[in-house]
Amino acid sequence: MIIPTEVSILRHADGKRRFLFEQMDLRGEIVHLDQVITDVSEVHSYPRGVSRLLGEFIAAAVLLASTLKFKGSLTVQARSDREIPLIMAECSSELTVRAIARGAEAATSDSFDALLGGGQLVLTITPDRGKRYQGIVPLTGGSLAASLDSYFSQSEQLQTRLQLSSDGTRAAGLLLQQLPPQLESNAANREEQWDRACMLAATLSPEELIQLGDATLLHRLYHEEVLRLFDLEPVRFRCSCSQDRTFAALASIDEKEIREILKEQGAVTMDCEFCNQRYTFREGDLRGLLGSTDSAPIH
Ligand SMILES: [Zn+2]
Repeated sequence: MIIPTEVSILRHADGKRRFLFEQMDLRGEIVHLDQVITDVSEVHSYPRGVSRLLGEFIAAAVLLASTLKFKGSLTVQARSDREIPLIMAECSSELTVRAIARGAEAATSDSFDALLGGGQLVLTITPDRGKRYQGIVPLTGGSLAASLDSYFSQSEQLQTRLQLSSDGTRAAGLLLQQLPPQLESNAANREEQWDRACMLAATLSPEELIQLGDATLLHRLYHEEVLRLFDLEPVRFRCSCSQDRTFAALASIDEKEIREILKEQGAVTMDCEFCNQRYTFREGDLRGLLGSTDSAPIH
């Protein structure tokens, strides 16, 4: 049993914590985000419904990135033809996040279906080394958590369940995941343990998920179980853009177009849509891209 060591608090340090059920093949993660949501919101000002949903996407990206077993990043992205054409949150294995809702400035709704209904959810795992993996499912069930449920029930991965909550300025999430059989090999017993853990998690209100401290929250749900709660791992907002990456992106633009921009504006500028960082390239910087007659051959 966990003895609660903290009272209910309104502000949490941004981070996630892992927990393990000592007598069942189950693990979990809890994430609380406060400053990260503020930092993301300072780059763009989104309508409330969009900020709230973006908070859920960021919490989901952190929880799912915590299941990565290698260095890389995980992106939770959705596209729709409703009020939000594109929304995405990315979390690296170092727990840095960035997020954006593109084209959603004029959204007025607070409802998931009006914002994203009928769209598609795309999960992308990009290892620093190796092949990128992508999975796609329809957005369903009126929430991101329900859509992720359907994603995991269709994949052959370990059973995984998420709960997400955000009020637009703070976000939180809880992940439960079944582990390969170690303590319990009977399939029916494993299933029953999983169902009970999920059923108890579902009793948590969105407000409780945001407001309760980690130990209090776990005690509230699983006081009959023996749990081990690990240390907080900080999560922060940091964009992964760089001069080199932006330069690489320029390679996809037509050379003629680049020359025209240089002629008209004297430089090519690109703004990162995640963090507003501006990258400027003058003709000398672009020599590698412009297969011109006046530049030296590249060795
Ligand atoms: Zn950036």
